[in-house]
Amino acid sequence: MRTSFAGLRAGLARIGGRGIQRRTPAELAAMHVAGQLVARALAAMSEHAKSGVSTGELDELAEQIIRDGGGVPSFLGYHGFPASICASVNDQVVHGIPSRAQVLADGDLVSLDCGAIVDGWHGDAAVTLEIGVVPASDSALSAACRSALDCGIAAALPGGRLSDISHAVQAACQAAAARDGVDYGIVEDYGGHGIGAEMHMDPFLPNVGAPGKGPRLPVGGVLAVEPMLTAGTTKSDTLDDGWTVVTADGSRAVHWEHTVAITEDGPWVLTERSLQSEH
Ligand code: MG
Ligand code: MG
Repeated sequence: MRTSFAGLRAGLARIGGRGIQRRTPAELAAMHVAGQLVARALAAMSEHAKSGVSTGELDELAEQIIRDGGGVPSFLGYHGFPASICASVNDQVVHGIPSRAQVLADGDLVSLDCGAIVDGWHGDAAVTLEIGVVPASDSALSAACRSALDCGIAAALPGGRLSDISHAVQAACQAAAARDGVDYGIVEDYGGHGIGAEMHMDPFLPNVGAPGKGPRLPVGGVLAVEPMLTAGTTKSDTLDDGWTVVTADGSRAVHWEHTVAITEDGPWVLTERSLQSEH
């Protein structure tokens, strides 16, 4: 197996492996610039995505914004990936290849994952969009995943352990499942990752696990937190294109991600759009 976008387990050290690299304040500021460019690309795509628009158009839009902002799309050419974003529609979980032939329709759920490099530093984030009106169950699924991301981010505190984040993500998914009365599946084998001068760095960050395990969360550490949730199974398959990951049971899937720095003042979400950094 190869390293892939969502911190494929085989490509990264398991929890308890090498620690999390620390960034200086100047390096975190540089990563924030990259993160803001990703945030801008995602915001533009979110505004543009609607019924009748192809995922290929969204890819072109993201690439334009990243290059206009002085960045390089990190996904393009990554292990041969042919585009600047991943666009994963409905039962596609992650790593979907955008194309002009894939036209969004009312009722679709599309996850857009985007990465940019600025001055050698990476940002990585993903959102799930609802095209037109989707079933209430799909909105609830996406909200559950987004709340799991928020809870994972809130656990990115100095002095904690890596699996505190995993546990917070899992607990939030389980709480949402109980609330919604749906047995959501947390996708196995994929998760978050360290990030910095490369997109995927140690450690792998599972989306499930008991708290209190793995390396300490240091001030200056940066992680991509990225829960992937389905309306059914935890199992996935990869399509013949070698990239697109789909749910094994055809159920719908969602994906939310942010790049987060651990600071003395709490989590700093580098890919959260900040008006101060708009030009
Ligand atoms: Mg990632
Ligand atoms: Mg990503």
